[in-house]
Amino acid sequence: MRWKGRRESDNVEDRRGGGGVKAGGISILGLIVAFVAWKFFGVDPQQAYQATKQVTSAGASQNSAPTNLTPEQQETASFVKTVLADTEDTWKPIFQQQGVQYVSPKLVMFSGVERSGCGTAESAMGPFYCPADQKVYIDTQFFKDMRQQMGISGEKNQSELSAKDEAGDFAQAYVIAHEVGHHVQNLLGISSQVQQARQRASETQGNQLSVRLELQADCLAGVWANRTQQRTQFLEQGDIEEAMDAAEKIGDDYLQKKARGYAVPDSFTHGTSQQRMQWFNIGMNSGDINAFYWKPISILATIALLLCAVRQIRLGSKVSSVQYVRPII
Ligand SMILES: [Zn+2]
Repeated sequence: MRWKGRRESDNVEDRRGGGGVKAGGISILGLIVAFVAWKFFGVDPQQAYQATKQVTSAGASQNSAPTNLTPEQQETASFVKTVLADTEDTWKPIFQQQGVQYVSPKLVMFSGVERSGCGTAESAMGPFYCPADQKVYIDTQFFKDMRQQMGISGEKNQSELSAKDEAGDFAQAYVIAHEVGHHVQNLLGISSQVQQARQRASETQGNQLSVRLELQADCLAGVWANRTQQRTQFLEQGDIEEAMDAAEKIGDDYLQKKARGYAVPDSFTHGTSQQRMQWFNIGMNSGDINAFYWKPISILATIALLLCAVRQIRLGSKVSSVQYVRPII
């Protein structure tokens, strides 16, 4: 995947090695402010400390780009910023065409533990999107885990082969694009409608809704790949295989079989390996915005429209095997 030399997004907060929870923990400044508030204004010291903790934490995470990053970590930051910029350059014009403003999500890079609008973020959770603060959270250790623990291939393109021992860069970019896909769903109100529908549904039905939401995010990631390819010709030999390899190994059936030796389809929340590969491909090969339905009308319609494109649901249900349609490389 070619990514160097393109625009980098300003919407990345790099909180690795400092900031975040640590900054919001025992902060001397926070203690002083809390003491002053208690001593001179009679504010309950615990409340005052909590308040200042939040303020100093937010300030620290916004402004403190870590200064002691290794060249490898700097490169990862550049990569993540470029991919996020690519998603912005994909979705802004698409939204504009529909007369809707695209508000880019922020992306928080962290290491270890971080506070998010959806509770504490930990590396073990993997990357996620938090609708409450409209931020994507990613511990970049995940890129290494993808390869070292999940067995997702490294860079196939030998000219770009690095010693980083991470999953290939296109597989990493796919993960980011998938999370941004959840942001797109959030902006369009799809996530909240699904959330409401889930409350009335049985557990099995609820899981099915989750699967659809996840597959749609995969499909939206495919649209990103398509649009970015059209704009920048960034794909290289082996990239799509990398993403397919990733999609396969993060499929519910694959993960469950690995964990317990068998798969329980009712409990799937993300979709099988085959479905995930299929829907990424559909988005990738379509990229056709006219095939999208942007404004779901009702819950029923939402459920019907949940998959990336209505036209392709029918097509999708008939596709019995994953079709690897090579992109234009
Ligand atoms: Zn997801």
